[in-house]
Amino acid sequence: MERPKVVILGAGYGGLVTAIRLQKKMRGRELDVTLVNKHDYHYITTHLHMPAAGTDHHDHARVAIADLIDPRKIHFRKSTVLEIRPEHKEVVLEDGILSYDYLVVGLGSETETFGIPGMREYAMSIKSINSVRFIRQHIEYMFAKSKVYPKRKDYLTFVVGGAGFTGTEFVGELADRVPVLCRTYDVDPADVRIINIEASPSPLPPGLPVDLVEYGMEVMRRKGVQYRLSTVIKACTEEGVVLGSGELIRAGTIIWSGGVRGNALLQEAGFEVQRGRVKVDSCLRSYQYPNVWVTGDCAIVMSPEGTPYPATAQIAVQMGTNAARNILQTVRGKELRPFVYDYKGTVASLGRGEAVGLLKVRKVKGRFAAFLKKCIDTRYLFLIGGLPLVWKKVIFKQKYME
Ligand code: FAD
Repeated sequence: MERPKVVILGAGYGGLVTAIRLQKKMRGRELDVTLVNKHDYHYITTHLHMPAAGTDHHDHARVAIADLIDPRKIHFRKSTVLEIRPEHKEVVLEDGILSYDYLVVGLGSETETFGIPGMREYAMSIKSINSVRFIRQHIEYMFAKSKVYPKRKDYLTFVVGGAGFTGTEFVGELADRVPVLCRTYDVDPADVRIINIEASPSPLPPGLPVDLVEYGMEVMRRKGVQYRLSTVIKACTEEGVVLGSGELIRAGTIIWSGGVRGNALLQEAGFEVQRGRVKVDSCLRSYQYPNVWVTGDCAIVMSPEGTPYPATAQIAVQMGTNAARNILQTVRGKELRPFVYDYKGTVASLGRGEAVGLLKVRKVKGRFAAFLKKCIDTRYLFLIGGLPLVWKKVIFKQKYME
């Protein structure tokens, strides 16, 4: 008898965890599972702010998929998904067509520019290994360039649009890197400006209590970060950013972290979406196509209060676990288990040795919070690759620091 075909699109937090859970939980060769990803590695998005700022090597933020997947159980295909055809139960890849009985979409998010003119052309985003290598090189290039064109102080102005998770974590790392770059390129630190622009009145990830936000802002200010809160970016140009007031901030570097939307392939495939994300049922399936599970940033999961949960790695991992379980329940003809989000807390890094956050409801800050952040990262590595992966990353980091 033919085995049910499961195709998983994307080896991010949601897709990879789905694959790993299926690998672990399926009996023998119960399913024919294919994992498709455009790279042969999984990148740890929550680390990307460090290689982007240059405080860590990008290899520390990625893991070869071959090290995580058992080829006897999961077939990995390195390819780019071009189209999803849910009515025909098939997916078009750059190098062929895959048919499926059950599909898991974990293709992550895309940058949301809210239609701000010039944002796509002149701003960079922290999205992938390729993008962070580019950002790191660009930052160094601007330091080098500023010495050749000493009148162009704007070459040393770094504007970060958005002060949520990504913006805050990147700004903290960049501020830590600036003294090193100043020494390397003989730049006066007083000439460097890091400006974090945020449309809402408060920076840092939403939901943090006011005293933690104030603590975080104080840490950042001590590192030299300037905040422009309740300030919208109206346009990006070759010269810099234009604010809602009409003011132009000249800047050689613009990083946009102001928002994300679900992968465009879902809307193109005819799924009903809100900001590119698919509203899913209590078991994470599409309402239109019950054989399609949607995980991570591509999905909207409603909280009991009726508001969508924020798109985070934490929820994506839990969704992957639930999707794998429910695929197995489906093929075994058993009742599906609803997804229940277990919020463990939020910890945002503020750079070296500093972080703020909540552990469930307990407030944490400073070195202890930074330590917790490391524990959270290590726990994830353990979840996907066990002790060997944790060890490999520790050794890598030690070698990099030498
Ligand atoms: P992703 O992890 O983005 O994975 C999507 C995968 O799909 C990728 O492997 C990609 O290569 C692949 N893919 C995309 N398109 C195609 C295609 N067409 N064909 C084939 N493959 C494709 N969340 C937290 O909970 N805590 C944090 O501390 C935190 N910090 C963050 C810091 C930064 C700098 C950023 C950018 C995000 C942070 N987040 C954090 C958010 C978190 O990273 C995302 O919510 C999470 O990555 C979503 O997981 P996902 O599985 O939906 O997608």
